Amino acid sequence: MAELADLSPQFSAYPCDKPLDAHVHVVGNGSGNTGCWLRLHGWRRLMAGLMLRHTQLPASALNGDLDRLFIERLLEMVRGSSLGAVVILAQERVYNNQGQPLDNLGTFYVPNDYVLGLARKYPELLPAVSIHPARQDALEELNRCLAEGAVMMKCLPNCQNIDCNDRRFIRFWERMAEAGLPLLAHTGGEHTLPIVRSEFSDPRTLRLPLECGVKVIAAHCATKSGLTDPEYFHIFTEMTRRFPNLYGDNSAFTVPIRGRHVPDCIRPPLVERIIHGSDFPVPVYGHFPWLRGFIDWKTFRRWEADPNVLERDYQLKRAMGFRPETFTRLWTLLRLPAQSSAKGMRYDPQIKKPG
Ligand SMILES: [Zn+2]
Repeated sequence: MAELADLSPQFSAYPCDKPLDAHVHVVGNGSGNTGCWLRLHGWRRLMAGLMLRHTQLPASALNGDLDRLFIERLLEMVRGSSLGAVVILAQERVYNNQGQPLDNLGTFYVPNDYVLGLARKYPELLPAVSIHPARQDALEELNRCLAEGAVMMKCLPNCQNIDCNDRRFIRFWERMAEAGLPLLAHTGGEHTLPIVRSEFSDPRTLRLPLECGVKVIAAHCATKSGLTDPEYFHIFTEMTRRFPNLYGDNSAFTVPIRGRHVPDCIRPPLVERIIHGSDFPVPVYGHFPWLRGFIDWKTFRRWEADPNVLERDYQLKRAMGFRPETFTRLWTLLRLPAQSSAKGMRYDPQIKKPG
C-alpha cells in the first residue's frame, strides 16, 4: 500500500522527541467561511463563554470573528508552550443508524476539510478527522481524508450515536487498521455536549474496532464526568489487559471526579498505555491536584498563574507524576503521512498567520 510505505522515512520531519497533546478541540461559528457551526443555548452558551474566557478570548467572540480568533490564540499557546505539536479534532455531526444527519441533535460541527487545511498551513497542528461510520459515504470520506493527511480519527459514540460494534462497520474499521489510522473515542460520561446514547459511554462499545486491529485511545480512560455517571474506569483497565492496541488519554484529569484515578494511571501496568491530552478549551485548574496532594503548593501557584492553559495542563500532569513517555507515546501511534503527500491542497481556511 502506497500510504503504508510512506510511513517511516518522514518520521524525522516531526518533532517526535517533544511532548504532544492528543486532544485539542477546534471550534468556530463559520465567521471565517470555515463551514464550522455552533448551536448553543441556555447554560451551554454560558459554559462556552466561560471556556473562551479561560483561553483569554472574550465571550463576545462567540458572535464575532471566532474562527480566526480561536486559531490565533491556539497557535500562540502552542508556540509558547513546551509542546512540539497538538492534534486538532474535527467534530462530526450526529447521524441516525441509516446514515441520515440529525442536525437538531448536534451542538457544534467542525468539518474535516477545516482541520486538514489548518494542518497544511501550520506544522504544529496535526489533523484528526471525524467520520460517522453509518454515513453512506463513510469509506469514501475516510479514503479522501487519508489521502489528504489525516493522522487520527476522533468520535464521540455516546454523543454522535455511533454503535462501534455494529458489524456493518467492519470494513470501515479494517480500512482504518490497514492505513494505521488510530481512533480517539470519547468514553465515560459527558456533560459539555448532549448525550444521545448513554450506553455508548461504556468502553466495551469499542470492542469491534479493537478486534479489527485499530489502535484505539479511550479518551478520559472511561472515567465519569458527573457524580451520577456510571463508572467504567475498571472496565477500561480490564480491557487494556485483553487488547494490546487499547490506550487511554488523561484529558481533563485535573478535575476531581476524573482525577481520582491518577494514582492508577501513573504506575504499571496502566502507565504504559496512557497518552497526554488536555481537552482544550476545557478549563484546567491546579486546585484539585494540590488538594489531593498530587502536587505541592509551589507548583500549584506557579502554574495556576500561567495563562497558557496548554502549558499549565502539561506542567500539572508532569508534576502529578505522569512519566515523560506519556507525553511522547502518541508519536508512535499516529499515522504520519509523508509531508509531500499532504501538499497541493485546494482548501484555504482564510486565516492569516498571527503577528
Ligand atoms: Zn474532548
